[in-house]
Amino acid sequence: MKSGKQRKLEIKTARLRRTTRIQHRPLPVDVPPPGAVFCDATRLAYGSSYGVPAFVDRGYYVDIAFRCRDCGVECVWTAAQQKWWYEVARGNVETRAVRCRSCRIKERERQALARRVHQEGLQKKQAPDHP
Ligand SMILES: [Zn+2]
Repeated sequence: MKSGKQRKLEIKTARLRRTTRIQHRPLPVDVPPPGAVFCDATRLAYGSSYGVPAFVDRGYYVDIAFRCRDCGVECVWTAAQQKWWYEVARGNVETRAVRCRSCRIKERERQALARRVHQEGLQKKQAPDHP
């Protein structure tokens, strides 16, 4: 049976050993890979989500490989493009690139045409051509 004093000393030693071990462990250094772009979290447009996007947590953007939703081609959404999208264009932090450049342009034209057709349809309704 150990005395209280002995037990206390054991705990103290163990605690000291633990603390020393923690202090001696090298700090985790998160080195941004080449091509990474620093993220300025103050410029971001937050949506309804409470989650912190990975690039904010990390502090920088990295190139993201993805497949175009429309034509299936392999693309890279570069770190610089992401910074522009989130911080300059103020795109929602939950949005990601889904289309390659040419499909994005086609999609924009398709949407513009749909809007025009819709507007023209409304105008016809508002001004019926029958007397
Ligand atoms: Zn495409």
